Amino acid sequence: MKFIRFEKYGQLCQGLLTGSEVQRITGDMFTEHTIGKECFRLDEVNLQPPCMPSKIIAVGLNYRGHAREMNMAIPGEPLLFLKPATAVIGPGAPIIYPKMSQRVDYEGELGVVIGRRCRDVSGQQAPDYVFGYTCLNDVTARDLQQKDGQFTRAKGFDTFCPIGPCIETELDPAAARIETRLNGELRQETSTADFIFPVYRLVSFISQVMTLLPGDVIATGTPSGIGPMQPGDEVEVRIRGIGLLQNTVAG
Ligand code: MG
Repeated sequence: MKFIRFEKYGQLCQGLLTGSEVQRITGDMFTEHTIGKECFRLDEVNLQPPCMPSKIIAVGLNYRGHAREMNMAIPGEPLLFLKPATAVIGPGAPIIYPKMSQRVDYEGELGVVIGRRCRDVSGQQAPDYVFGYTCLNDVTARDLQQKDGQFTRAKGFDTFCPIGPCIETELDPAAARIETRLNGELRQETSTADFIFPVYRLVSFISQVMTLLPGDVIATGTPSGIGPMQPGDEVEVRIRGIGLLQNTVAG
């Protein structure tokens, strides 16, 4: 099932997306909800980020191909960093190029959406805590990442975490195909089969560090092919089975 959030008549609503039909739901998508009778076409609603996380936990290096591209050793455990909730934007919203940076990169990623409060779970238990999956762009000020050593500034600007268009609850996270396009040109293309740390191992590992809450998002790392964007560019992250997350860069 594909869950979305959208704005209609000035209200923030939740819905189920089937093809191009949106059914409004009431209640909480993560727990109890009811499918209402109200129905819209997708082009009649204004899509919002499909969830509002309390935090985004991102993984630094998680594809074998990307490790080779960067000439880096395969890490023994995941390298974690945080992106603030204020970085989240939805499909179609502009990524604002910050004045502090001269190099802003896209990083197309699989986003994991947590469905239940999660603390200290094993890899075997982890599937029970995952609600679904979304497309995510871990936008990065690469020059500031190198300058600072720490990731907070480089990864934390407002608008630096586009997510969407929906949360797909039925996806095999070990065989998802990710494509990133810049102005229509294919830049990243891979399968999550190349993960160094698979999704359930990440959920377990992170849950041993911090409590994960419903709606929290894990950015699972980017494959090879990262590169810069310029104001005016259009960037798309597409994951087969989820859909297309499209944003433009504004100067
Ligand atoms: Mg990343």
